[in-house]
Amino acid sequence: MTSQVLRSYIGGAYVPGTAAEKFANLNPATGQVLCEVEIAGAPEVERAIEAARAGFLLWSAMTGAERGRILYKAAQILRARNRELAELEVQDSGKPIQEAEVVDVASGADCIEYFAGLAASIHGHHYGLKNAFAYTTREPLGICVGIGAWNYPLQIACWKSAPALACGNAMIFKPSDLTPLTAAKLAEIYTEAGVPDGVFNVLQGDARSGRMLVAHPEVAKVSLTGSVETGKAIMADAAKTLKRVTMELGGKSALLVFPDADLKQAVSAAMLGNFYTQGEICTNCTRVFVHTDIYDAFLEQLVERTGKLRVGDPMHADTQIGALISRGHMERVLGYIAKGVAEGARLLVGGKRVSRDGLASGNFVEPTIFADCHDEMAIVREEIFGPVMSVLRFSEETEAVARANNTRFGLAAGVFTRDLARAHRVAAQLKSGVCWINNYNITPIEMPFGGMRESGIGHENSQVTIDYYTQLRSVYVELGDVACPYE
Ligand code: NAD
Repeated sequence: MTSQVLRSYIGGAYVPGTAAEKFANLNPATGQVLCEVEIAGAPEVERAIEAARAGFLLWSAMTGAERGRILYKAAQILRARNRELAELEVQDSGKPIQEAEVVDVASGADCIEYFAGLAASIHGHHYGLKNAFAYTTREPLGICVGIGAWNYPLQIACWKSAPALACGNAMIFKPSDLTPLTAAKLAEIYTEAGVPDGVFNVLQGDARSGRMLVAHPEVAKVSLTGSVETGKAIMADAAKTLKRVTMELGGKSALLVFPDADLKQAVSAAMLGNFYTQGEICTNCTRVFVHTDIYDAFLEQLVERTGKLRVGDPMHADTQIGALISRGHMERVLGYIAKGVAEGARLLVGGKRVSRDGLASGNFVEPTIFADCHDEMAIVREEIFGPVMSVLRFSEETEAVARANNTRFGLAAGVFTRDLARAHRVAAQLKSGVCWINNYNITPIEMPFGGMRESGIGHENSQVTIDYYTQLRSVYVELGDVACPYE
């Protein structure tokens, strides 16, 4: 960052933009301007492509072991600067420091470390054939574009860049215009760790900058974390040049709590899966289906514990609920709460904006619980992306599964039961990319992460991601004669 103006990071340095347009980056908790951000236009996109092209030549010529060593160093730098980066993330995103300090930077570093370790093991196969053999090689795609959402800005930048770089690609990353700060820091860290200039570039800007990147014919792949509508638009644009896509999109996930569940654990999971990061998590279990036998007991514990959650300045160590990302988003969330009331859902806790103790200049909303919800309510059908939980009653396993699956989304799901057979039977039937049994929202780097249906295409994390950032080439080697019927 150069003083108060944040510029795009291209070819190993911040470059002054040619575009006159800037936007103000606000702290969601205070409304204060953190910096001005230059919007990348066509000249910056071309410059980033040129830098990435040069970076790719150098980087892809290195061995996986060499790349891994450098990436490992980047992970170490991230960990060493955990507090500083966490604070920056809090200012930019409004999430509580108690979360950012243990999750955001660490999970980014975990990811870089993991793919640093895999880089040397990327390989093809050998196929023995009759008087011949064939082999495959796994090759990088070239220039990949990463486009991020604003809820986990640094983590998303790491989850996309780590596998891309480990496989030998170059990346141009465009963070959300609401959270531009930490991806730029990641670029600095990659440079410090020894990643050659141009291998990881950050283009600042809004949807227009993103569109230009997606349209560019030299870009081989686009990985988006964002909403379903943006995913569809990007896929349509990417189709024009037949680019590969990975789509991590929205959801309206269900948690099923059976009567034999450990109630305290299930309540903990429902709270974590609705109120962590002020509810701004794509996988959140915003539809909590509770069996009728334990419905009242579940609600009692849930209401009691949710009432104790501390909303406040995200920089305070004991704050548990921070600020929503923007004024517009807060209005949208409050609009859904009003809709829930109008639709006849029973408001048990929260429901209001918080403006006491100087919080009025930020975007704070109370953690909110609706009970007695019905499947057709807007709060049950649509992604709210805020601290709003809908609780629904069920009596039969088959009914709960059918209702959980009755959505266009398919990102995540959860099952709470002590019955092993039921847990796996239900998990097998839920149409979601991820299903947690007796926990929720845990995303270890070893486990593939991705959505089904309109929640996404492809995965992040785990070994499978190597397939998404490489292309397979086959080579056939003849050891005999060409079988030729011609004279
Ligand atoms: P968004 O779709 O509005 O924007 C995401 C990114 O796409 C931004 O960087 C934006 O500038 C860019 N963009 C928008 N239109 C574009 C276009 N036509 N071409 C190129 N780029 C474009 O999403 P958001 O509001 O930033 O994030 C919230 C959404 O993200 C929610 O729906 C949430 O569920 C989803 N999300 C999904 C995951 C996941 O892993 N599945 C994780 C986090 C967030």
